[in-house]
Amino acid sequence: MSSNESIASIILGSASFYDMMSRVQMMNRMSEYDEELITGIIEQIDNLEQSKNDIEKERIALQLKMEDQERKISEKADEINALNAKMVKTTDEINRLALEQEKINLDKDTLAKNNAALKAEEEKINAAVLAQKQETEKRLAEEAEKKAAEKASAEAKIAKEKADAAAAAKSAQEAAEKAAADAKSAYEKTAAQAEADKKAAQSSAAKKAQEEAAKAAAAAKAAQEAKEKAAAEAAAKQAEEARKAAEAAAKEAEEAQRAAEEAAQKAAEEAAQQPQYVSPYPSSEFIWPAPGFSYITSGVGPRWGMSHNGIDIGDAGIYGGAVVASKAGTVVVAENYCPHDYGKSGSCGCGGGYGRYVVIDHGGSYTTLYGHMSNVAVSVGQYVEQGEVIGYVGTTGWSTGAHLHFEIRINNVYQDPEQYVSP
Ligand SMILES: [Zn+2]
Ligand SMILES: [Zn+2]
Repeated sequence: MSSNESIASIILGSASFYDMMSRVQMMNRMSEYDEELITGIIEQIDNLEQSKNDIEKERIALQLKMEDQERKISEKADEINALNAKMVKTTDEINRLALEQEKINLDKDTLAKNNAALKAEEEKINAAVLAQKQETEKRLAEEAEKKAAEKASAEAKIAKEKADAAAAAKSAQEAAEKAAADAKSAYEKTAAQAEADKKAAQSSAAKKAQEEAAKAAAAAKAAQEAKEKAAAEAAAKQAEEARKAAEAAAKEAEEAQRAAEEAAQKAAEEAAQQPQYVSPYPSSEFIWPAPGFSYITSGVGPRWGMSHNGIDIGDAGIYGGAVVASKAGTVVVAENYCPHDYGKSGSCGCGGGYGRYVVIDHGGSYTTLYGHMSNVAVSVGQYVEQGEVIGYVGTTGWSTGAHLHFEIRINNVYQDPEQYVSP
């Protein structure tokens, strides 16, 4: 039922006009009240509408704020991810640097070890060269002494021969004297007989002859004595001269030895004063040590933070090639141990890094060194001619591939081999 219908039914249900009027009045009052009520409700609705709008505005503002926050959060998350990635990268870098540092330390250790081994080998070579030098000096001194003794003994022999000749002359003289005496006695006998026969007549003549014979014998004796004395004096003089000659020879030998020592000393000093890497001798004295191969892969100078003290000859196909003595001399080192005949980036330590190698002493403070051979074909103390095969090219010791490492030294000072030899 609508409100108009209910109002109508209320009015129509009136029992009388008065009742109806009172009902109309009541209805009017009710209506007024309703209007107030409706107005109040409308106001309330307006208020609600207003607060709804406010709330909506607030909601939208909050929504915007939230979106803004979310955007900011997402930005921060990106930033955090970027930082995390950066941190991972930094950690990797730190690890890599630590590894590198470790490797550098290892390399440093290896280098230090190799340097120590090289130094030890160096000392070994020096000792061998020194021993060879002392041996040579001793032999020269012994030879000089022997020569002086031989000369003195030869001169003594000559003096003895002269003395023997004098003795022989003396005995011949004695024999002659005896013959003269025999002749005299025979004559005396004959004279005695004659005297017996012709005593009176010939006595004065016989006496005179006898006197003359005696006089002749005395003269002969005096002459003989003088001759003997002269011979003895001559022999003594000869012996004295021989002694003097022997002394002079010994002195001469001593002086020669001293002069040789001085010359050697002077040569050594001069050699020591020579500037490094400059050849004071004609290059024709030395020859190329790897016949048939000519490619120099490395010369003297700094390499890998160290000093490279010789030249490396390393053509393709050089492995097994002959290595020959650059100059004649005596082998002072013949190191033939290193089972590591293959290319390597570090040193196996054999031969102080030279692997299988040979050092030859050429005299005059000169030595040559041949390194990294696959096999050594000579032994210590052996004399080798220039060009004689002393071993074969390999890659033993500190060697990255097959090559011959060749050094020339004066008084153990490294020279530049390219100043001395060419292929
Ligand atoms: Zn080795
Ligand atoms: Zn080398």
